[in-house]
Amino acid sequence: MATLEIKDLHVTVEGENGPREILRGVNLTVKEGETHAIMGPNGSGKSTLAYSIAGHPKYTITSGTVTLDGEDVLAMTVDERARAGMFLAMQYPVEIPGVTVSNFLRTAATAIRGEAPKLRTWVKEVNGAMEAIQMDKAMAERNVNEGFSGGEKKRHEILQMELLKPKIAILDETDSGLDVDALKTVSEGVNRVRESGEVGTLLITHYTRILRYIKPDFVHVFSDGRIVESGGPELADKLESEGYESYAKAGA
Ligand code: ADP
Ligand code: MG
Ligand code: MG
Repeated sequence: MATLEIKDLHVTVEGENGPREILRGVNLTVKEGETHAIMGPNGSGKSTLAYSIAGHPKYTITSGTVTLDGEDVLAMTVDERARAGMFLAMQYPVEIPGVTVSNFLRTAATAIRGEAPKLRTWVKEVNGAMEAIQMDKAMAERNVNEGFSGGEKKRHEILQMELLKPKIAILDETDSGLDVDALKTVSEGVNRVRESGEVGTLLITHYTRILRYIKPDFVHVFSDGRIVESGGPELADKLESEGYESYAKAGA
């Protein structure tokens, strides 16, 4: 059973006056089949957590551990992380000039599955998944994220998630910039993958809105680089009515 374990994670980024600590001791365990929502104000370090787990070179881990089924994730290359079953949908998906969606997905699937998917079944798989996430088939031949609208970028992220079937999915602000219809479609995609019961999901968000469509098992409040409160779905209701004010940094 897949388990992502984050223990006492401290992370710095390079600032004008030297390294600045952004994550200040994050502890979290996400198991297969579970959905955890991380909610917090802008600038609290949520994306830094996602990038650090993904292995982005800008973020320096100064102490703590991240393991997937006991394996040291932080010692893995970015590719190895993906092959181990980690998936990150970024808040700001990047353009990949010269690489079509179709080629990108096939390359990723080949790397993760260890062999190239059979062309005929693969085309069916991709078409089915694109239809489900309501992406125009013509988009398969466009370069990844080039000229995509906000909604198209998020759909493409979830399309990847559906096709790559990760063990652990980290979704950073997948709801940002979506209108209600797009939010529903994207949420349904996430829920289809969740229903397989084989993915552990870390849903990072600023707003409670997406939690109406994707029901978390656990909610964590993130403030100033760490989790300051954890609870069940009722914690999201409390945040919806009270906001983050009561968590404003006490000792900063
Ligand atoms: P959130 O996702 O919760 O809005 P972020 O993780 O994006 O928060 O940012 C947390 C803090 O870390 C902010 O003060 C931000 O400016 C800083 N930060 C994040 N990434 C970088 C970076 N690559 N370089 C410099 N500062 C960064
Ligand atoms: Mg932010
Ligand atoms: Mg962010």
